[in-house]
Amino acid sequence: MTTLFISDLHLEAERPDIARQFLTFLEQDASEADDLYILGDLFEAWVGDDDPNTHYFTIKRALRKLVDSGVPVYFMHGNRDFMIGKGFANETGIEILKDPHKVLMYGQQVLLSHGDVLCTDDVQYQRVRKMTRDPDWQASILARPLKDRLRMAEEARRQSLEQTINQSMQIMDVNQNAVKKAIQHFGVDILLHGHTHRPGVHVVDVDGRKAKRIVLGDWYTQGSVVRWSSRGASLEEMPR
Ligand code: MN
Repeated sequence: MTTLFISDLHLEAERPDIARQFLTFLEQDASEADDLYILGDLFEAWVGDDDPNTHYFTIKRALRKLVDSGVPVYFMHGNRDFMIGKGFANETGIEILKDPHKVLMYGQQVLLSHGDVLCTDDVQYQRVRKMTRDPDWQASILARPLKDRLRMAEEARRQSLEQTINQSMQIMDVNQNAVKKAIQHFGVDILLHGHTHRPGVHVVDVDGRKAKRIVLGDWYTQGSVVRWSSRGASLEEMPR
């Protein structure tokens, strides 16, 4: 049996090819899995569970079907879809996890995270992150009309793109000290995250102990998944 981990699909109406691959993945791979973990940025943007976009409806229905078939689905917020709330969880049956979240996988302690919290070199982003994860801030945003929120999301996305272009690659990657600290603090063997869109498996030396950091890739041009079974964790690409 297998546990599946994915992240950074960045689903949006303008990219039906990603949604198609995801829906097939849910029907084929995930339906035969023990459980599925979605480690953030399932959606490119999320302005509130009340958004009636039909694209979201299709995705929600597919998640519901999977959960109802007996496969638990766990979700962790990313920096794009951090506004996913109880409404979405109730509609789909998914369970929302706090970031980070510790799990035991076949005897190994594993820390799950979206990964943005580890990018501590980006001081400006960490400030924005702190503000936008504040429940009071979120409540004040959700109180606004849907069309205002959609406009704000569009603006935030444009700014984020500009920043991505202007910032050095190093600043946008995880900070090695933050990685070591997290591994130490939570006493884990493996850290599994997404967000950086740089899939890979890294050895991390923590006080002479060899820990591992596994990074999921995005779904822009192919799928990315970690399949975890009794044989261990395997990071794989899934061609479109
Ligand atoms: Mn992200």
